[in-house]
Amino acid sequence: MTTQTANSWLDPAPIERALANPAPNDAARVREVLAKARELKGLGMDDVAALASVTDPTLTEEMFATARQVKEDIYGHRIVFFAPLYISNFCANECTYCAFRKSNEGLQRHALSQEQIAEETEVLVKQGHKRVLMVAGEHYPGGMRYLLDSIATIYSVKKDNGEIRRINVNVAPLDVDDFRLLKEAGIGTYQLFQETYDRKAYAEVHLRGKKSDFDWRVSVMDRAMTAGIDDVGLGVLFGLADWRFEMLSLMQHIAHLEEVFGVGCHTISVPRMEPAHGSTVAEAPPHPVVDEDFKKIVAILRMAVPYTGMIMSTRETAEMRRETYLLGVSQISAGSRTNPGGYADEAKHDASQFQLGDHRSLEEVVAELASLGYMPSFCTACYRLGRTGKDFMDLAKPGLIKQKCGPNSVGTFLEYLIDYASEETRQVGEKVIRDEMTQMGMKEQDISERIMNAINKGKRDVFC
Ligand code: SAM
Ligand code: SF4
Repeated sequence: MTTQTANSWLDPAPIERALANPAPNDAARVREVLAKARELKGLGMDDVAALASVTDPTLTEEMFATARQVKEDIYGHRIVFFAPLYISNFCANECTYCAFRKSNEGLQRHALSQEQIAEETEVLVKQGHKRVLMVAGEHYPGGMRYLLDSIATIYSVKKDNGEIRRINVNVAPLDVDDFRLLKEAGIGTYQLFQETYDRKAYAEVHLRGKKSDFDWRVSVMDRAMTAGIDDVGLGVLFGLADWRFEMLSLMQHIAHLEEVFGVGCHTISVPRMEPAHGSTVAEAPPHPVVDEDFKKIVAILRMAVPYTGMIMSTRETAEMRRETYLLGVSQISAGSRTNPGGYADEAKHDASQFQLGDHRSLEEVVAELASLGYMPSFCTACYRLGRTGKDFMDLAKPGLIKQKCGPNSVGTFLEYLIDYASEETRQVGEKVIRDEMTQMGMKEQDISERIMNAINKGKRDVFC
C-alpha cells in the first residue's frame, strides 16, 4: 500500500529553517505580513513563521485586530453550530492522552446499538441541532458496516420539524475503498486530527495499535480525497509538540492537498489537550499551549487560510470561546457530550473521552451569541447543493459565498427560533436577524425575505 501512504510532502527541514528566525518581533516584517493578510489571499510558510515569532504586546494586538477584520470581511457575524455524536468508545490503540485507550480498564465501554444511536439523535434534533459530527474510538463492533448503519440511522431520525441534515465524521483512517463507502453514505466533511506532525513526539504518545503508524495517519486525506470526499478537516492536538512547528506543518499539509487535489482542507480544528480519565500525559502535556498563544494560533490560521472554516469545540471554556469567535472561529459545538449515550443518559458520564470546558446547553450558547450580536446559523446548504471542495472555494474566494451564507443563516436561525427557542431567546434572535438583513445587499435581502416568508408559513429546510 505504498501509494496509499506516500508522504514526501512532509518535510521538517524548511519548517525548522523558517522557525530559526533571527529577528523575532520584526515590526516592519510583521506589518508587511498583516497588510498581505488583509488582501484575503492567505499567507505562505515564511509569513506564518514571522507571525508566530511575535511576543511583543503591541504587535500581538495588531495581529489580533487584523484577524478580526479578516474574519469580519469573510464570515460577517455568522457562526455555525454542530454537536458531536459519539457512537462507540472501544479502542484498540494506546494514545496516552486519551481516556478511550485500550489499557484504560477503569473506563466504562459502550458501543451504541442502532436504537441507541437513534435515541441520541432524537435528543439532538429536539434541541434544534441540524449537523452532527459522528465520532468513534478505533474499534467498533461490525467494522465498516457499523459506521454505515450508524450514518443511515442518524439521517433517518425525523422529529416534528427537525432532522439531522449533515453528518461529518471523525473516525480512524480508512483505506480508499472504505472511504468510497463513506462518501456514498452521504457524509459532509471527513475530519481527522494528525495530533502532531512531529514524528518523535508522535511516537512517544502513540504506543500501540494501528495509530502508532504515523505514515498511515498523515496520508489519510490523500486516500479520502482520492475516494471523492471533497471536504476534509485537518487538526492538531495542541500540547504534544511546539505549536509553531505544528502550524507550519499544517501549512505544508494544506499546500500538498492544494497541489494534488486542487483544494486544501475545508476546516481546521484546534483541539487543546484537556484532562482525561486516568491519563497523566493529559494532566501535564509535554508542550502546553498557554491562552495567549492559543489565541495567536486561531488568529494566525484565520489570516493564513482565510476561507477555511475553523472549529472551536467545548474543550475550551466559555470565556476562551468568546474571545476566539472574534479572532476567526466559524463553527462551534454546544451542549456536547463525549461519551457514547451521553445525551439520552446523563449517568454514562464515566465513559467520557476528556473533560469539557463549556457545559452550557445549545440554547444558552445560542442566546449568548445573539446577545453579543453574532448570527447563529444551522446551515447545511452547500454540501447538499454539491458546493463542496474546489467548487466551494471557487465561490468563496471571490467573496460570492456571502450571497448564500447570509440568507441561509437567517433562514436556519429563524427555523431554530420558531421551533426550539424560548420567548426570551426568540426576541434577542429576531433582533439579530433584523440587523443582519440591514447589512445585506439588495439581492440577498430579497432571497432572505423569500426564505423567511416560507418558514413563517410553516415550510422548513428552505435554502439557496
Ligand atoms: N479515534 C479516532 C482518532 O483518534 O482519530 C477518532 C476520534 S478521537 C475519539 C477524536 C480526537 O479527540 C482525537 O483525534 C484527539 O485529537 C482528541 N483527543 C483525545 N484525547 C484528548 C484530550 N485528552 N484532550 C483533548 N482532545 C483529545
Ligand atoms: Fe483511540 Fe482515538 Fe482515543 Fe487514540 S485518540 S485512544 S485512537 S479514541
